[in-house]
Amino acid sequence: MLVLGLACLGCVEPGFEPSLDGASTQAEHDWTSESDSDDGADSETGDGEPTEPTEPAPLPDPPSSPDPDPEQPNPQPSGCKFDLVWPTTGTDVAQTIVHDAYGPRLLDGSYDWHGGIDLPGHSDDGGFFDPVHAVADGSIHAIGNRPSPNQGALSNYGPSAGNVIILEHAPADLHPGADTLYSLYLHLDTMNLEAFAARFADDINTVVNVDLREYYYLGGSGTTAENRGHKRPTFKSSGAPITAYPRVLRQDPIAIIGDSGATYEHLHFEIRETSPTSAHARNPFAYLPHLDQTQHTASLSVEGATLRALVEIPRAGGAMGSVTDLSQQLDIADISLQLRDLDNEVIDELRVVLSEIGQLDDPDQPLLDLGGVALTLSPSDFDSSSSSWRLAVDFVGLGAIGLIPILGDVYVLEVTDLCGNKFTTR
Ligand SMILES: [Zn+2]
Repeated sequence: MLVLGLACLGCVEPGFEPSLDGASTQAEHDWTSESDSDDGADSETGDGEPTEPTEPAPLPDPPSSPDPDPEQPNPQPSGCKFDLVWPTTGTDVAQTIVHDAYGPRLLDGSYDWHGGIDLPGHSDDGGFFDPVHAVADGSIHAIGNRPSPNQGALSNYGPSAGNVIILEHAPADLHPGADTLYSLYLHLDTMNLEAFAARFADDINTVVNVDLREYYYLGGSGTTAENRGHKRPTFKSSGAPITAYPRVLRQDPIAIIGDSGATYEHLHFEIRETSPTSAHARNPFAYLPHLDQTQHTASLSVEGATLRALVEIPRAGGAMGSVTDLSQQLDIADISLQLRDLDNEVIDELRVVLSEIGQLDDPDQPLLDLGGVALTLSPSDFDSSSSSWRLAVDFVGLGAIGLIPILGDVYVLEVTDLCGNKFTTR
């Protein structure tokens, strides 16, 4: 197996567009080596949506979940532990309206890597009323709120993040053996920091109004631009010792969906695994209860020197905010371009792990380098009104790493969804 890392081709000029003719041109590019992105810096905004599409239409009532189609292939569910509840419903009933999924998207016509999912509020109710729920038991890791939402703990976030809460969920809050998760809630409406409904571990069933400024640097004594939003380590703002931090239980309302930093009312929701930095963002669908049934199709085609892998997921057509079901989302963990012999044994493979793209210095760059093979990710036909979600991955330079068929070998594309279900082109 080839074990290769992804790197961004940061040297590519803006507007560079690979084409069939460009295949040889690309081969002549002086590809950068893998960049050192392991500095833990949360250089992304956490959202990466400086602008948003136009105001969506008012939302219809949530539909009941569609019946599974008995004609679909029957994947064997595995892997997923749906520890969380949906932040918008507070239950395991899926929010079926998702404007933008995790991963590649078009934003105002340009390629963009989306580190989370966008869940709209009801914009036709004359204000901000839709609650945001804690997705699991936990405590507040950090807060960014107006008038200084992006200082201190959120200093690496752009203005588009708006008001933010980051919850920390320890393994004990999830399932045995779980990794610590961080759930991020962006674009929130104004938060009531002086009377935040929370609980303490010694009386966990009682909700009390907590002045978060006592436990966090949120404008009380000692708050600076550097520490704003962080926990106070030892003493409350009053000087009394901190013996326990406020907690929330799964389903507790923690905020209201707003439009701070955004152009429409929605919750940008992210899950980060083991660390709160943007490099640890994962596809939230891996953790949120959903119908674990894939409807993907995959194909491979050759155009000149380019091998194109196309993964398509059917989805309901319609305008922005139209109802989709979760099997229509980007339910892809990785795709593997494999060489198989006549016995269908895998001889060699090139694997693209989508969550690793978010770890790159510039995940918004669609042209990537996977160990010397140039990759172009294109969601070019995807928008909320298209009848399918498509991920096209163009591979150029497979010959340079020896990943070319000989003696009856064939290419096979194997796609693995977030719960470990696999399907292939044959
Ligand atoms: Zn978003």
